[in-house]
Amino acid sequence: MPVNHITRNRDFLLSGNHDIYISCCHGSSIAAVGCHGSSIAAVGCHGSSIAAVGCHGNSATAVASASKDEICLSTISPKDKPWNVHRANSDRVKSLYESTELERYGNRIRDCAQMLQFAAVESDEGSLGLKLRTAHFCRVRTCPVCQWRRSMKWRARFFKAIPKILEAYPNARFLLLTLTQRNCELTDLKATLSTMNQAWKRLSERQQFPAIGWIKSVEVTRSLDGTAHPHFHALLMVKPSYFKKNYLSQATWTELWAKSLRIDYTPIVDVRVVKPRPGHEGELGAGLSAALLETLKYGVKESDLVSDRDWLVELTKQLHKTRAVAVGGVLRDLIREDDPEDLIHDEDNPDLGETEEADKFHFGWRERLEEYVYVDRETC
Ligand SMILES: [Zn+2]
Repeated sequence: MPVNHITRNRDFLLSGNHDIYISCCHGSSIAAVGCHGSSIAAVGCHGSSIAAVGCHGNSATAVASASKDEICLSTISPKDKPWNVHRANSDRVKSLYESTELERYGNRIRDCAQMLQFAAVESDEGSLGLKLRTAHFCRVRTCPVCQWRRSMKWRARFFKAIPKILEAYPNARFLLLTLTQRNCELTDLKATLSTMNQAWKRLSERQQFPAIGWIKSVEVTRSLDGTAHPHFHALLMVKPSYFKKNYLSQATWTELWAKSLRIDYTPIVDVRVVKPRPGHEGELGAGLSAALLETLKYGVKESDLVSDRDWLVELTKQLHKTRAVAVGGVLRDLIREDDPEDLIHDEDNPDLGETEEADKFHFGWRERLEEYVYVDRETC
């Protein structure tokens, strides 16, 4: 079965022997996990040989060598590879909090997403994929896993609202606006963000401000000298008349932001029009999707989170109880502004309700391997 994802063998299904086959990507052989039936389940991951593990049935269980007996989530479900990257960075952040006054955050992050429970879900094409069903998240603001899940959730919220937005405002256009100011000492970050938020309020209340709706996120990056570079990414929804009579040049945007910030230097401001992809004129979806990725990417780059212990600790204190994402104008009625509670489900991953025990797959985090590894709940 030369596929690189889980596929349900239809012949097996028809025969009532419901097995899920998983192809091996590191090796050349096929690995399979038995599920409903009594047949043998075999799994291989790093090696070229097959390792076999019995599952629900009472048939033979083959034993794999220690280095070849683990099935990695990233192998059988390549789309879930990001889990490894984010969870590995969470381990780094956890380690940085150790022996600091914020050790409690490290303890919470340590327990975050240690075990992922997936359900095998069949697509319309008949192939099987894994959907996250249950996991525990620590919700610490600086946890890379939680930051990633939160940004996915925000994007999902926006995408869910797009049909309603375009129904109410069929000719709406979008701009991507980045507003910066001079770097600040990290110890001044909270005060600086407060000043910037006041400036945003003044900007959005100006008569020239063209947006009828907006979504804005805060990003903080670390400069080489250790200062903080806070800036806003905003997606603005404007009427088509913006381009005819209310158009603001980049220079005017810069001037308005400087006035709103009440500063006497020229801040860096970037403004771009969100365009449909070439060949897809009339469809804003893809362009909007890319713009939204930019707007709701992350609050702090993971590479900055793991770079320096003192910086991380101070950043955590400075970001405490500050708002990461805000929604305004007409979008406020269409997109909820509160921090997402549910970090599991989104439009690509709806709540599956009850799942058959046999269709659940557990993967546990292995810090040393930096991999999520299949855990057979029947045998462990
Ligand atoms: Zn977390």
